[in-house]
Amino acid sequence: MPFKPRRLCSCGKIVSTGELCACQIKRKAETDRRRPNANDRGYDSAWSKARRAFLDKHPHCVMCGKPAVVVDHKTPHRGDRTKFWDKSNWQPLCAHHHNSTKQSLERSK
Ligand SMILES: [Zn+2]
Ligand SMILES: [Zn+2]
Repeated sequence: MPFKPRRLCSCGKIVSTGELCACQIKRKAETDRRRPNANDRGYDSAWSKARRAFLDKHPHCVMCGKPAVVVDHKTPHRGDRTKFWDKSNWQPLCAHHHNSTKQSLERSK
């Protein structure tokens, strides 16, 4: 019989290694239910507040001067919190230019 390693879960139960404990399955189900949402990418309420304040100060698209609706990251933050919150990396864009910027980034990949 091969030795089956076991581990002690943080909830106090002994479970086989590689298997999820009941408490983890429950936690995972709860996380999955909340997904997909923007919070996972860092777009939480703090961001929506900061975004609104930024658009108040910079209400015009940097490309065309139309009303800006999006705060764009000049350098894609790719989940990097520092880059994400660096205001010098932000620019106001209208919906049209936000989309075209994103598309050209996709193309250059
Ligand atoms: Zn557990
Ligand atoms: Zn524009």
